[in-house]
Amino acid sequence: MPDSSISLETRILDLPNHGVARLGLLTARKLASGIAANTSGKDLNQVTVEDLLHYLPMRYEDRSKLTRIRDLTDGLEASLELFVKLCQGRPVRGWRSYRQRLYIFEISATDRERSGKDVVVWTFLSGPRAPQIIESYEKKFRRGVRFIAFGKWESDSSRRTYSLKLHKPDEIEVLPGDVERPLPETTEDPAIAAIHVGRRVPIYRRLNDLRPKQLREIIHATLATLPDSSLAETLPNDLIKRQRFISRREAIHQIHFPPEAISLDDYERSRSPAHRRLIFEELFWLALGLSVKRDRRIKEPKGAAFKIDDAIKRRIASVLPFKLTGAQRRVIKEIFRDLRSDAPMNRLLQGDVGSGKTIVAVIAMLVAMENNCQAALMAPTEILAEQHARNIKRILASSPYRIELLNGSLKSGEKKRLREAIAAGEVHAVIGTHALIQESVTFKQLGLAVIDEQHRFGVMQRAELRARGMNTDVLVMTATPIPRSLAMTVYGDLDVSIIDEMPPGRTPIVTKIFADNASDRKEVKQLLHSEIVAGRQVYVVYPLVEESEKLDLRDATRRYEYLRDKVFPKFSVGLIHGRMKPEEKDECMRRFVTGEIQILVSTTVIEVGVDVPNASVMVVEHAERFGLSQLHQLRGRVGRGAQQSYCVLLASDKQTEVARERLGIMEQTNDGFKIAEKDLELRGPGEIMGTRQAGLPEFRVANLVRDLDVLQAARKEADFYLNQADKSAEAQKMIARVRDDARVKLAAVG
Ligand code: ADP
Ligand code: MG
Repeated sequence: MPDSSISLETRILDLPNHGVARLGLLTARKLASGIAANTSGKDLNQVTVEDLLHYLPMRYEDRSKLTRIRDLTDGLEASLELFVKLCQGRPVRGWRSYRQRLYIFEISATDRERSGKDVVVWTFLSGPRAPQIIESYEKKFRRGVRFIAFGKWESDSSRRTYSLKLHKPDEIEVLPGDVERPLPETTEDPAIAAIHVGRRVPIYRRLNDLRPKQLREIIHATLATLPDSSLAETLPNDLIKRQRFISRREAIHQIHFPPEAISLDDYERSRSPAHRRLIFEELFWLALGLSVKRDRRIKEPKGAAFKIDDAIKRRIASVLPFKLTGAQRRVIKEIFRDLRSDAPMNRLLQGDVGSGKTIVAVIAMLVAMENNCQAALMAPTEILAEQHARNIKRILASSPYRIELLNGSLKSGEKKRLREAIAAGEVHAVIGTHALIQESVTFKQLGLAVIDEQHRFGVMQRAELRARGMNTDVLVMTATPIPRSLAMTVYGDLDVSIIDEMPPGRTPIVTKIFADNASDRKEVKQLLHSEIVAGRQVYVVYPLVEESEKLDLRDATRRYEYLRDKVFPKFSVGLIHGRMKPEEKDECMRRFVTGEIQILVSTTVIEVGVDVPNASVMVVEHAERFGLSQLHQLRGRVGRGAQQSYCVLLASDKQTEVARERLGIMEQTNDGFKIAEKDLELRGPGEIMGTRQAGLPEFRVANLVRDLDVLQAARKEADFYLNQADKSAEAQKMIARVRDDARVKLAAVG
């Protein structure tokens, strides 16, 4: 008898005590650890029934209508209930790739009525363990064994029957009963057999070594055991009516076991009523939380609103080194509106690599200084901070303001004097890494904080600033062109400005994929040679992945020595990597900036921000190991002048399809937004942004690329309730619910 006292909060590890699905302790552990791995940040001890029920099917199969062999046609997608006649695995003759043999494994089978010629279900296997695997399959698929096979059936001329190719034999499900005793009624537990056939069934991605069928049984039993009261409604009634949602209870049941009435197509596209309801719910609470935060910020006054009069505008015009683009003018207008307002600015400035964000920041900083306030600019690396300091000092050379770089390589005496000058208000603008706020530099009157390359930092800066009692205007800049949908959510508490236009006179970069072989490498070498002879400079970048940092570093160092001694002995080659001391890095960078170093070999420390307009070639080694957005960032280091620039992607592993697709996109477009959207599709938002870094909440049901329309609806509803906060007790309750939600806290700056 199942114990009916489970709830959404019940831990998976406790499920065996409740007799759910005859779940043993060992299986419960596997289940919990599998789900923990899918739910970032959870320990297997904390995984609950709620987490389990949010492990959604990757697809569904309609087994309510089992097809007979007689009714098969070429290309038909169908489920067949079959019985094994014969099975065998054998090597494919004449086919032997490098070290590996290819095997074929085939089952010939018939259906209950022997309605047609025996069909064949088959797959390829390779790898050292293939013979063992085949042996185990031969044991499993003995004559008479009953199984379900679903997929696209092809009329197979060499076998003279219909056949179904599987990716893995695991995909077929062995069922209780066999050819002698085929009916579910005769099996030990007819109820369990009926979960898997004669209905629409969910197919789950394997978890640890729990197969789809096992997962289906466990989830079915959990749903059956869970009392309705523990799936109580969470959304207000009027909202459910307005959006025509089904109840939460129905949604959770139906997302696992689709009812007959809804098209399976809607399920496959995640657009069934169950999907819509659960996706909405997830996005709604987040949207409400973010709106509440934003509302609170806007209502809380900052030190002083800035004035921006004609004198100030003239001063700005006098320092501009070039004519601003239309997009730059537009975002400056948006920033000015915030600077003039009583509410603290919290704005994200997004612009593709090289779109000219720096000058926008400088103008905002100048406004603060003209209003007798100080400005701070924080960059993610010392190299970048130094570059900004150099640039800004140059741009503002004719102004009366004192601009200083505060970085780690200052001697302690110098640092102390500088801090004192900042506290006394003698320094008007400070540039540094975010040590600026971490080391609690005191300002006399900080009016504006600019944070460059936000995605490298994480999201807590505004919170940190505020915690230090500095409720100032904040401008956050990022070159990771996050698709607008994502920005809206991740930075839901930020207003967003976008520079969507490049400064004039840029020649589009030519991007080309090369293989890691002698002839391709020769071509690359010739390109580098001719560019350097023409006076240009070159980057050669190696990946650096955390797990194998040492190995990669050795790789990069070795390649550096090889390039220096063997390939380009006549040129000057430099090496820069993250393990070097800041002074060494700066020194190396300086020599590259001055042109003394012609080829800079590097790990990805140069990924963001670095601006050396004379560099014309970016060579990326092991390009397949980089994410799209990262590749785009790297490519953005060249093409900064009018000359033709090149991005060379060396792919040592052309095998994996995703890698090839990814690199192909790089060849096709230079548009950072398109690339980011593609990246999002291929990898999911968590990976793109580095969830931990960016503070992007993990979604369990929602997918921001796919569910943009639902997100918009959720934001609209959230604002509706926020506006009712004064009148409606229900709205107040909802707001109280999200106020302390950790996910919301994490999702927004400050
Ligand atoms: P990012 O947005 O990547 O930070 P930068 O601010 O470093 O870009 O600008 C890239 C380059 O373009 C710099 O060399 C900068 O001087 C130049 N630039 C920026 N805006 C303009 C403009 N309106 N006209 C001409 N050049 C510009
Ligand atoms: Mg920049």
